[in-house]
Amino acid sequence: MSKPLTISRTIDQLQLPQDDASLWRLVERYDTKGPRYTSYPTAVSFHDRVDQDDLFNAWRTGRRDVSLYLHLPYCHQLCWYCGCHMQVERKIEPMRRYLRAMLQEAGAYPELLAGKRIRQFHLGGGTPNQFPKHLLLDLIGELQQWFAFDEDCERSIEVDPRLLNQEQLEAFARLGFERLSMGIQDFNPRVQGAINRHQTYEMVAEHLHLWRQLGQGGVNMDLIYGLPLQTEISFSQTIKQVIELGPDRIALFNFAHIPHLKRHQRLIRSADLPEPQVKFKILLNAVRALTEAGYVPIGMDHFAKPSDPLAKAMLNGNLHRNFQGYTTLPDLDMLGLGASSISMLDTFYGQNTKDLDQYQENAGRASVMERGLMLDEEDRFRRDIIQKWMCGFVIDVKRIESQAGVAFDDLFPKAREVLHQMVDDELLTVKAFGYEATALGMLLARNVAMLFDGRLGETKPSQFSRTI
Ligand code: SF4
Repeated sequence: MSKPLTISRTIDQLQLPQDDASLWRLVERYDTKGPRYTSYPTAVSFHDRVDQDDLFNAWRTGRRDVSLYLHLPYCHQLCWYCGCHMQVERKIEPMRRYLRAMLQEAGAYPELLAGKRIRQFHLGGGTPNQFPKHLLLDLIGELQQWFAFDEDCERSIEVDPRLLNQEQLEAFARLGFERLSMGIQDFNPRVQGAINRHQTYEMVAEHLHLWRQLGQGGVNMDLIYGLPLQTEISFSQTIKQVIELGPDRIALFNFAHIPHLKRHQRLIRSADLPEPQVKFKILLNAVRALTEAGYVPIGMDHFAKPSDPLAKAMLNGNLHRNFQGYTTLPDLDMLGLGASSISMLDTFYGQNTKDLDQYQENAGRASVMERGLMLDEEDRFRRDIIQKWMCGFVIDVKRIESQAGVAFDDLFPKAREVLHQMVDDELLTVKAFGYEATALGMLLARNVAMLFDGRLGETKPSQFSRTI
């Protein structure tokens, strides 16, 4: 049996390549395009040969409790790096109309979710705190009438610090949100100029102070490395400032530069983006600074204070991953409401239309689910391997063979050669049960997961972001 990772292992073993030439070789070998694996199969495998009835049937037969996600797609300004489904909108009436449509969509579910509890509730976007407080209060009040929210339901909300105020924070605390997820990205003013998102350290510190005064502790901060004009020195300063602020959790995302898919990213000058080897150094420096400050690396791109439940789950081998990223909760079926939202059940994934007009026109009347996927046995087998890798960072060859009743090398004829190369490159170590990631290998988790992805051939690499 493989053992869960330990803090000392993840910190002590973060070995940087000794010289620039070795670093460059590593980048050259592993910098490719690939999925982020918030799900397997990934959303690019979804197609339109399934319909809303397939989704409803999956809910009828599903027995698991529920993670409820609401997508609120409006923002007051466009960040040029944005990869979300959003629209700039400052008027209240369209927001009111959108929430009405979302409630109409939700109206189909009380019966389907009878006997199930909502154990996780997340408002994402877009910018949820762009919506007026009273509209959010009405929406949540209504949903609480319709669905059985668990007493210990984990409630979190994404906020844009530029719009946050004391009144909002008090309302979120009253609604039981115990965790704010703040988009920070980078504190450097030049980088902020190059991505069209200005927010000061002082502003964020003040919000945090107020939130903590309200007796609420939970704060996630999202950072992005690989942004235009970022340097090793500038991002080290951002990391230092974030450590001073002391959020419970930090997500450190790789900038997904996909201007062919997100046209507004063309506003970012390609010449301003850090070279892959600089980007990799920025990442390694950040990981080292965060772990030296006591944060536990969670999966490939998250960090948490040792006292945080996510860190405990990581160390106990109880980490899970869904479309919302890493979580402590066991497998839940996920209901996504709103335009572009994804619902994810054991055997079926479905995604709503991204078109806001179409969504609002059809919600409650006709199908808003546009694409999806019925998972077959092979999908579920591969998902299990990828999920265990992305959460526990082990490839348990023996368990895979006993589950499949087939030799590993017959199942994955090309994997062994790559895995051995990764061992040589100190990304993996060989264990009696199979392979285990080193701290450096955890950062390149996507490259390993791709070895077990049976659907990569169905998609164009250009649909994915770079792994480094
Ligand atoms: S606030 Fe978030 S969702 Fe809105 S534009 Fe910026 S990055 Fe995109």
